[in-house]
Amino acid sequence: MGTGMNADLIDAEKLDKLAEVAVRIGANIQPGQDLVLTAPMAALPLVRRVVAAAYRAGAGVVTPIFSDEEITLARYRNAAPESFDRAANWLYDGMASAFAAGAARMAIVGDDPMLLSEEDPDKVARAGKANSIAYRPALEHIAGFDINWSIASYPAPSWARRMFPDLPEDQAVARLADAIFAASRIDADDPVAAWTAHNAALHARKDWLNDHRFAALHFSGPGADLTVGLADGHEWHGGASEAKNGIICNPNIPTEEVFTTPHAQRVEGRVRATKPLSHQGSLIDGIEVIFEGGKITKASATRGEEVLHRLLDSDEGARRLGEVALVPHSSPISQSGLLFYNTLYDENAACHIALGQCYAKCFLDGANLSVDEIAALGGNSSMIHVDWMIGGAETDIDGITADGDRVPVFRGGEWASDL
Ligand code: ZN
Ligand code: ZN
Repeated sequence: MGTGMNADLIDAEKLDKLAEVAVRIGANIQPGQDLVLTAPMAALPLVRRVVAAAYRAGAGVVTPIFSDEEITLARYRNAAPESFDRAANWLYDGMASAFAAGAARMAIVGDDPMLLSEEDPDKVARAGKANSIAYRPALEHIAGFDINWSIASYPAPSWARRMFPDLPEDQAVARLADAIFAASRIDADDPVAAWTAHNAALHARKDWLNDHRFAALHFSGPGADLTVGLADGHEWHGGASEAKNGIICNPNIPTEEVFTTPHAQRVEGRVRATKPLSHQGSLIDGIEVIFEGGKITKASATRGEEVLHRLLDSDEGARRLGEVALVPHSSPISQSGLLFYNTLYDENAACHIALGQCYAKCFLDGANLSVDEIAALGGNSSMIHVDWMIGGAETDIDGITADGDRVPVFRGGEWASDL
């Protein structure tokens, strides 16, 4: 409610810059390339700017597909119970054929991340599953990095109210807008140049890690004594990277992480989450887990423990890791001190690990490896991929070489060496 009025409160010039960054740095739309864009209705002021910027960049046909919170809720509250196993397959099939024909993908997020928290969990789970199945052919083009794609965000009122429940809506939107602009480097005089420098810094970090070829990382800090073995033939990524169609894009705006694939069988020790995890409308806080042979054998939480256990029981791979990522405590998102309830932001606030599916691209020559080859190298597989934060101001990380030598990687939450 109240959408539309707040657009006046958001700096129009900064929205223009955000659209420019999303098109040129994020998806990097090429002349003649089509674009499939999904966004909430509330993000219309940004969508209009993105469409204009995409056509200025030479885009072929730009197709925006909108969702709306009230319309989403109308289904949960009025539709026949048996209808929740269905999805708009025709729409997802159309997206898949657009990507197969070379279209780029952009998502703009902005809806309340907890929108469905009050709805029937059974309906939410069934609709989610039906959507995942229908979306899979399209998602494979994105997950397989066949095409250039990106996610950016808009300070929609419902998301702002979730983050700042004690503020009047106008002020909440203004606070969220400031946070999005700062994290997306829109405050810089020349945001495109700022992104070029940021990507170069992330590339230097990932190159350093790739040169060292650590066998494992050891995390220590409050509640943490965790050894994360890295997959054989793992490769670190971060910042802009090249899709299989040869186009260099930034899949996430913002991004602060360098990340790779852990070995699904080689994670040992204990770790405690340093921030709450917002998962499908539920908040899980105070997570503590023990890993043995790569698998979580003991897990507890001070809040949402049942949701955590359900998550861990999703499938065989849900108790093992698919990602480890390094983010310094001084990252702008961490310094904001805000919980966004949205992984796009929250995972860029701290070092994190992800339960579940690994990324094929985080292997040397990953594009040419089969699913079986990835598994043999230690890559985990699962239908979930859930990031949660384990880093903070006191995090120390050592890289452990194949010979057992230790090299400082992080000290006191920051990179141990200047590059
Ligand atoms: Zn990550
Ligand atoms: Zn992740």
